[in-house]
Amino acid sequence: MAEAPLPRVYDAEIRAALDDLVRESLRTLLTVAVVLAWLWLTQVIITDRPYLIWAYVVLATLVVAGAISYRLCHQRLGLAVGVYLAGLTVAVTVIACALRGAAVSYLYLLIVLVAAVLADQRAMWSVTGVCIALAVTVGTRVHHMSVSDLFPMALCVLLAALTAWLGSRRLFTALSWALSMTEQARKSAQEARERRAEVRSMLKSLDEAYVRLERANEALIFAREAAEKAYRFKAEFVANVSHELRTPLNLIVGFSEMMATAPESYRGKRLPSEYRGDVMAIYHSARHLSDLIDDVLDLSQIEAGRLPITREPTELGGIVREAVDIIRGLAEAKGLRLELDLAPGLPTLRLDRTRIRQVLLNLLSNATRFTDHGWIRVRARIHGHEVRVTVEDSGRGIAPDKLAQAFEAFGQLDDDRTRQGSGLGLAVSRRFVELHGGRMWIESTLGQGTTVGFALPLDEAKAPAPLLRIREAPSRDGRPRVLVLHDDPQVLTLLRRYVESVSFVLADTAQHAAELLRETLPFAVILDSTWVERWQRIVAEVGVTEPLPTLTCPLPSLRQLALLLGAADYLVKPVRREALLQALARLPNPPRSVLIVDDDPSFARLMVRILKAHDPTINLLLASGGAEGLAIARSERPDLVLLDLLMPEVTGYDFLEEVRRDPALAGMGVIILSARSLEQEARPLAGELRLERPGGLTPTEALEAIRALLEVLTQPAAASRATVAAPAAGPSG
Ligand code: ADP
Repeated sequence: MAEAPLPRVYDAEIRAALDDLVRESLRTLLTVAVVLAWLWLTQVIITDRPYLIWAYVVLATLVVAGAISYRLCHQRLGLAVGVYLAGLTVAVTVIACALRGAAVSYLYLLIVLVAAVLADQRAMWSVTGVCIALAVTVGTRVHHMSVSDLFPMALCVLLAALTAWLGSRRLFTALSWALSMTEQARKSAQEARERRAEVRSMLKSLDEAYVRLERANEALIFAREAAEKAYRFKAEFVANVSHELRTPLNLIVGFSEMMATAPESYRGKRLPSEYRGDVMAIYHSARHLSDLIDDVLDLSQIEAGRLPITREPTELGGIVREAVDIIRGLAEAKGLRLELDLAPGLPTLRLDRTRIRQVLLNLLSNATRFTDHGWIRVRARIHGHEVRVTVEDSGRGIAPDKLAQAFEAFGQLDDDRTRQGSGLGLAVSRRFVELHGGRMWIESTLGQGTTVGFALPLDEAKAPAPLLRIREAPSRDGRPRVLVLHDDPQVLTLLRRYVESVSFVLADTAQHAAELLRETLPFAVILDSTWVERWQRIVAEVGVTEPLPTLTCPLPSLRQLALLLGAADYLVKPVRREALLQALARLPNPPRSVLIVDDDPSFARLMVRILKAHDPTINLLLASGGAEGLAIARSERPDLVLLDLLMPEVTGYDFLEEVRRDPALAGMGVIILSARSLEQEARPLAGELRLERPGGLTPTEALEAIRALLEVLTQPAAASRATVAAPAAGPSG
């Protein structure tokens, strides 16, 4: 049997399969050889040939070799084949000896062919060699034939061997190819199986990851909701607590201020100086506490994204100068040199004047507090696309390791707790600057001084274009800009609190409205009902040709609410001295006699002090309830009533109703002082709501507008939904 290089994996099984084939062939050939020998013997017997004995020998040889070979073929196939080939060779040699003639030697050909079938190549070539040698030996020695007579036979045997070798070689090459292909296919199948397993496990992992992701997502949503809720609670808590704290605190501030600064309101009796010092300390501490509450509230409002900034064209140099002037006295009292270095041509920026002044005052008061000698320098310069304002001092500086915490809330960097300061100033200031699209930084060297600076972008200050014909809907923060025309800037705070999807800008004069319109066309205009005529004039003056949607409606404002209730003004408690004095100044005539109607005697007393300090000659009357108030009003006919709204029995509303009804009370001015904010007012605003757009609305827009309006009407609670109170507009009555 020819041996071809077999793939190793298959070695054993292929060899076993081939051995089986050989075994089968061997059995057939054994039988055939014995049958042929027996037939020959029969023919020899029948024809009565002289070499009968040789025929027996041949048959016996083949039978014996066959039997041995048969026995061995299971355990030792190689030996079995060897025995059979040997037996065959002996039998053929016996025949060749017995029969004369060259043709007989061709029987060796048979052995070669059998060897080609049963043995490997080397064995086949050995058998071929042995057969030729035996044929030649028997031919020359036994039958005395010449070598040339035997040559064709030898050639035939060689050729047969060669042909068998070539045939089996091709066979084995093809077999080896087939096997290597099978092996490759098997490997590929194995790889595919492995890949499939990998893919399956990946799919499983993916499924698990997806499930985990979904769970994480759910947890995240839950956490976000919880965080939002907590945040809302926190903001509401802060607002409510601040409000509750502020009310009594305001009384403390008001009274201590009056006691320390306006002795005239105590019938000219001055406090002994020791008391005055203590009362002054109470006043300063209470102011400090009150500022602290404002800061906390501002911070929580900023964090909740609720603190609106009201931008208006502001000359930056102007507010820097203003702030420096406020702090100058303080600095000079400490012997500090205060230098102001403003670059010429500082622009007019659109800023929230109050907030930026607050930032400057913060920086300047810090510089004054933390500098014991030397100087404070305030600089403003234009750098590229921004204006930078810096407050530099020669004070004690901040240690490098503490510097990073300077902007953190409650980040007081020294352990000197006796110093005034909340640790909120820089945190709040930075938030204010950021609300303007700017940034803030701090640099300091311990023992040498500190520089705190902020930069505001110049883009806002660009010279206003004549009139942009392109509708520039989005504002800087990407929200559509809506122009609000109203006399009371407070309305903006309310609108911003309720509508977050647009950016509101307010114009409280026709000139300001025209300026804003020339600068950039808004997405829409909301005008108070009282502005309709003024708006038409503005449109004609500016020459607006765009189909600008306008929403005309009575907009809620405290002053309007006051008018609606039949009063001249409306102040939300706690009422600061300045606010009250400003409201008095807005009256057509300064009042000579004032009736205070309030069930809170402390608050009433504070009002008395403020009014007395303002005008010692003023005639003051007090009533602790609505009924008493009405009686005094009828008998004394005061010029002005300061009226609380929420009182037991006869309320402020009842009082106002009576004033409206009773001609005897006509002509009396009323200023409402109430803790009740505008949003808590359930009284409807008179007037119609009108939406107009030149060119009209598409059917979808009209339907959407109807839907939105109906939603408001069918959910009246939405109008009074709880919101975080603004600093001066908290609940509780
Ligand atoms: P505070 O109300 O306590 O001043 P700030 O937020 O304004 O709070 O300042 C935080 C801390 O930063 C201060 O307590 C102080 O330690 C430090 N700091 C701020 N400005 C200066 C400065 N100009 N010089 C030295 N330290 C300063």
